[in-house]
Amino acid sequence: MTESLKSSIATLRDMIQGARIVAGFTGAGISTESGIPDFRSPGSPWMRNKPISFELFLQDPEARRVAWRRKFTMDDLYSGARPSAGHIGFASLVASGRMPAVITQNIDGFHQESGLREDQVIELHGNGTYAKCLSCGGRHELAYVRYHFERNSDPPECMVCGGILKSATISFGQAMPEEPMRRAQTLTAACDLFLVAGSSLVVFPAAAFPAFAKENGARLVILNREPTPLDQAADLVIHAEIGEVFSEFIA
Ligand code: NAD
Repeated sequence: MTESLKSSIATLRDMIQGARIVAGFTGAGISTESGIPDFRSPGSPWMRNKPISFELFLQDPEARRVAWRRKFTMDDLYSGARPSAGHIGFASLVASGRMPAVITQNIDGFHQESGLREDQVIELHGNGTYAKCLSCGGRHELAYVRYHFERNSDPPECMVCGGILKSATISFGQAMPEEPMRRAQTLTAACDLFLVAGSSLVVFPAAAFPAFAKENGARLVILNREPTPLDQAADLVIHAEIGEVFSEFIA
């Protein structure tokens, strides 16, 4: 590890120790070391297919079949993935009492798997580990949806109201979830340190939270392999691997 990275990690440690309320904010980059590729790095499998918009999903049964087929293919590909040093690092920051919750753009559920309670994770883009009815909001497990899909070549209807089931993620064109957005706003307004890890900070409205934290007087730290549009505004920028930083940090 370079001297400059060691010094940045020491500064990060001091900033966290000196903070009253730290807001955590993560993106796809925190899960690459778990084995799940991010969205924008070269060769991304997520860019291979044209995304199915929410509108198309609602209108077209064939689009729904394609969406479910893609989903199960991706799930199989990354079924061995587990939380990374970064997830464990964030869980330990929450356990320390300084970080009330982690705001995440991720849909993989790894913050919960690394030990955080549901109320300690604010999911801006939903969760891909289960399905939801678009009419009544009822939760359905993926194993059930898949069982039905593989036998009937069609996803099942909601067991409660007969509505359309969809992975509980937010698709292009779908409204942002109200409660997580409200909670993210409250935490961002309250924090005096906002820590970003593994996000290109180009997806809106999610990327507005770090900018708002800074405008509101919080200090901003960005830990990301590559530069982001908010680097100029940040108090500390660490261009490094999340695992390397958190392994050192936890130690
Ligand atoms: P992004 O792909 O736009 O950006 C990820 C950033 O993380 C990149 O700038 C990359 O350089 C950096 N990065 C990757 N691995 C890193 C590492 N080990 N250490 C440090 N930096 C690393 O991701 P985003 O900003 O979160 O936006 C993409 C959207 O795609 C989000 O909405 C997210 O929901 C979705 N997505 C989620 C997952 C997931 O849940 N695991 C995976 C892919 C995409």
